[in-house]
Amino acid sequence: MERRETVPEMYGSYVFNDRVMRERLPKDVYKAVHKTIENGTHLELDVANSVAAVMKEWAIEHGATHFTHWFQPMTGLTAEKHDGFLSPEPDGSVIMEFSGKELVKGEPDASSFPSGGLRATFEARGYTAWDPSSPAFVKDGSLYIPTAFCSYTGEALDKKTPLLRSMEALSREAVKILQLIGDKDVTRVSTTIGSEQEYFLIDKDLYRKRKDLLFTGRTLIGAPASKGQEMEDHYFGVLKPKVSAYMHDLEEELWRLGVPAKTKHNEVAPSQHELAPVFETANVAVDHNQLTMEVMKKVADRHNYACLLHEKPFEGINGSGKHNNWSMVTNTGINLLDPGRHPEENVRFLIFLMAVIEAVDAYADILRLSVATAGNDHRLGANEAPPAVISMFVGDELAAILKSLEEGTDFKGIGKTSMKMGAEVLPHITRDTTDRNRTSPFAFTGNKFEFRMPGSSVSVANANIVLNTAVAESLSCMYEALKDTPADEMDSAIHALLKKTLQEHKRILFNGNGYTDEWIEEAERRGLDNLRSLPDAMPRWISEKSIDLFLRHGIFTKEEIFSRYEILLENYVKTIHIESLTMQEMVRKDFIAGLVAYMKELGAEAGQKKALIPDAGCVLEEELLRTLDADAAGILEKLAKLDADTKQADGITEPLESAKYYEQTVLADMESLRMVVDHAEALIPEQYLPYPTYGRILFSLR
Ligand code: ADP
Ligand code: MG
Repeated sequence: MERRETVPEMYGSYVFNDRVMRERLPKDVYKAVHKTIENGTHLELDVANSVAAVMKEWAIEHGATHFTHWFQPMTGLTAEKHDGFLSPEPDGSVIMEFSGKELVKGEPDASSFPSGGLRATFEARGYTAWDPSSPAFVKDGSLYIPTAFCSYTGEALDKKTPLLRSMEALSREAVKILQLIGDKDVTRVSTTIGSEQEYFLIDKDLYRKRKDLLFTGRTLIGAPASKGQEMEDHYFGVLKPKVSAYMHDLEEELWRLGVPAKTKHNEVAPSQHELAPVFETANVAVDHNQLTMEVMKKVADRHNYACLLHEKPFEGINGSGKHNNWSMVTNTGINLLDPGRHPEENVRFLIFLMAVIEAVDAYADILRLSVATAGNDHRLGANEAPPAVISMFVGDELAAILKSLEEGTDFKGIGKTSMKMGAEVLPHITRDTTDRNRTSPFAFTGNKFEFRMPGSSVSVANANIVLNTAVAESLSCMYEALKDTPADEMDSAIHALLKKTLQEHKRILFNGNGYTDEWIEEAERRGLDNLRSLPDAMPRWISEKSIDLFLRHGIFTKEEIFSRYEILLENYVKTIHIESLTMQEMVRKDFIAGLVAYMKELGAEAGQKKALIPDAGCVLEEELLRTLDADAAGILEKLAKLDADTKQADGITEPLESAKYYEQTVLADMESLRMVVDHAEALIPEQYLPYPTYGRILFSLR
């Protein structure tokens, strides 16, 4: 029997990673590339040429015939355009070519990507630029080169560019304050992300029979199955053999691509699962999450499954999210959200903790917005997901420490530790990994924060752009407040600053159950925003405060901010528009046909019975027909309203107004149409239904 590849052999075998570069690049070239990666400096063309030559050889050895710049336009997906390495020779043969220029820069025709008005039509060109900080890899016979995507005039048209800018901003501000408090060796701070990915796996043949899943990713109609998730028997349950085989295959494929997939388990809803990777630098983690989503779908297809990444594919059971675990690490290896063991470390920890508290409170609105999509609107605020209100959980012990910090009292630890007033005034903190709050949208989990609002299908870039930038801002304010303090007064100045910051922002801290109505009321009393939907939240993106923030840290230009505003709204409107049309088609053409066929059958059956037995009662047929007939009338009426209201939307040109209209009118119409259809569906035998039911889809996997 052939020996199976071991995981270490498999891991990263299709990645042009640091190890490959060290082995294959000339020493000086390797150094130059490293300098570029570490300092974000420019790569000289001769160096690029040398890298390209080695990369090409390596890629060909790994089965590549093509290369592609791989980027993340504002669609939220990834984009690629493949070019062959081959170059014909005059003698009829070919050679394989790949130049430094082709490596560092591409010029895809960008006219069909969303730009929110950034690119005038006469200048449709955009360009892609190599991001050497995220390793290239070979997949499906092509060399993939991670790139940033800009308009010809230099405006970002993607999610990577602002993410890299936000990582820079955070690093800059964090280094300043660390230097100030004595961490002189720190020259760079990176943000780290581990994003847990939830998904549904369903039978591919059943999937293909549902136009709603095919066109919109979620079911637009469908009566609930008799069984849902109430037995709580799926979460962490035994993996079914075929599902397990899928997960195994998925992991192997991800490992080959250098994606550190680490844990897998069943989630709460039937047919729902989760995969979590080991955390990485933000930029690489975002690329890897995009890759994970893609590979999940591809491998599912091979296993005769469809992988659903929509935030709310099924009504009445849990939706899917993507938990964004986030922290900061110095080039000297310190996790800045790790409480540490010594009082000096605690000072640093408290500064960074407080910077995050301030950031999340001050910019809760754009953080909320960073995860707003038409799909996620169905999930946030539903009872399994975090509410649309942003609050932070820090755990009981940390909360007690913060309280003593605020009140200047001595902290008596909860049970196990008592606070040492180290560095004269600051508390000693032991790391507490015991308590967990699964209902908080933004929870401290021992040495990192977990932001639980992102939806399962979105790129986590947006959330991290906002988070990094907001934290950079609070660090910058802290630095300004402390920078002229004489050394012997630093401890008390820090203490006073932390206390003041806490007083100003403690309203965001909440350790209770975030899923209750009481909390929503309490949040309102505290003055926290409850931005329920994308259209509700959208104006905050272009508020003076947000624009100032992004401009101050060089994350977006004003044009980029407005272009993103337009793209988000446009995307929201288009999504619901497609949903409305799909629903109309499914009901008008398919569902009604099934309904009519069943009613005809009932009528015919009653007729035959009467012909045979003239005095036979037809109570059942009559009752069913009457109910279905009433539903049919309701369906017709609601269908007509949805149709008319959707057409009406064409006349609204102002983007925000249009989005609001879709939310308040079209979505509401869809909901009321669904109620009647679902009512009728529950009465119709399966063989008359034009699509598989919830029960079939959710419980058919072996
Ligand atoms: P839990 O959510 O139960 O605490 P883990 O501690 O295993 O589970 O972490 C969940 C995710 O958080 C994983 O993807 C993990 O890699 C990531 N993670 C752990 N430490 C950090 C960190 N310092 N920065 C970012 N992500 C992290
Ligand atoms: Mg978790």
